[in-house]
Amino acid sequence: MLLITNGKLVTWGPDARIIYDGALLIERGRITEIGPTSELLGKHPGCEIIDAGGMLVMPGNICAHTHFYGAFARGINIPGEPARNFPEILRRLWWQLDRVLTYEDLRYSALVCLSDAIKHGTTTLIDHNASPNAVSGSLDVLAAAVQQAGLRAVLCYEVSDRGGANGVQAGIAENVRFIRSTRAGEWGERIGATFGLHASLSLSDDTLQACTDAVPDGVGFHVHVGEHEFDQQDSLDKSGMRVVERLHRFGVLGSSTIAAHCVHIDSNELDLLAETDTWVAHQPRSNMNNAVGVADVEGLLRKGVSVALGNDGFSNNMWAEWKTAYLLHKVWRRDPRRVDGTAIIDMAVLHSASLANQFFPDAPLGVLAVGSQADIILVDYHPTTPMTSSNLPWHILFGFEAGMVDTTLCAGEVLMRNRKLLTLDEAEITARSRELAAGVWQRFANSNIG
Ligand SMILES: [Zn+2]
Repeated sequence: MLLITNGKLVTWGPDARIIYDGALLIERGRITEIGPTSELLGKHPGCEIIDAGGMLVMPGNICAHTHFYGAFARGINIPGEPARNFPEILRRLWWQLDRVLTYEDLRYSALVCLSDAIKHGTTTLIDHNASPNAVSGSLDVLAAAVQQAGLRAVLCYEVSDRGGANGVQAGIAENVRFIRSTRAGEWGERIGATFGLHASLSLSDDTLQACTDAVPDGVGFHVHVGEHEFDQQDSLDKSGMRVVERLHRFGVLGSSTIAAHCVHIDSNELDLLAETDTWVAHQPRSNMNNAVGVADVEGLLRKGVSVALGNDGFSNNMWAEWKTAYLLHKVWRRDPRRVDGTAIIDMAVLHSASLANQFFPDAPLGVLAVGSQADIILVDYHPTTPMTSSNLPWHILFGFEAGMVDTTLCAGEVLMRNRKLLTLDEAEITARSRELAAGVWQRFANSNIG
């Protein structure tokens, strides 16, 4: 049993409240009591205590779309002229980099991202892996790293035609094998699985059919959709259909499927996403960096599509993603009313939590309530203006900084306390990653020459 006392509890959930001088009791990974500090202290003498000292106590953040494998790209040099557009970035950076990754590279790039996530209070991550020369067993490598970190993650391998027929078969087999092993309980309660597809632009009809034939019942897909116009042009050339229609034709859409980006989709595709209850993951930092455009998340939300927030491999400081989403849509529409704080909470908190709960249905995520998962962060934020549940989103958007996360718990396990990581050796991860990244960069440079 663990008691967190003297906190300002931010409950989130459909009727978000701030409970002042609140305490909560954690047993077997779940929140079992919430009440005033004095009351819970009286009821549970001798219990292990974390004194929040007036900090905010909140549910951990959730990232709906990320790529652990991209960690070693930070600071990398792409030989030649700067890439002119997203297809060039794919070809010259990501499709060269992922080919040179070994299993140890995967392990350490994941550990880099996971320690970053703990430090930034992100407790659930939905990953999409690519490592064409280290496919079989790659998801076990990632799962072992997640397990060591103590976080919650959903893993998949991106199937694409880039590696030919053998690559397709290896990718399908890795997804199916890992889905079965998580279902068999081999990885415990904090690791989930889905079926990864790269994008329509790298998937033939035969490959799509093979994937939908192979996916186990009740499992959806995690796929990039309409990230750039090229995805649409390719789909029209291949099939005469637009991307979302083409994916729908193969049975890829549905209430367990995540469509990442959806920057370039038309109103008919938007309707299809809504009709099929497909999830959309929005990554504004990545979209800005790749200069691909802006997803019409307001249009999606109006139609009832559940849009969640991801980071596409950017830092796991999800509040930076919240802030970017908040700012981007205003400048895009030249209208300060667009995507307000409430819309950010809908995406980043409510929808992201519902999405995460698809994979971890045993107890609610993203909410402080009796019975919910004890995925909790302590945030050292002391407002200088009045703070209420109704203006809280704006306190986060304008007041929170990455370094304010003091303590991180996942399933009741303390992963960071007073900003010190408890499950991961950060110095060792940093040192080994720097060595491995140098090798990755060398092989990347050689493959660009050859
Ligand atoms: Zn992505």
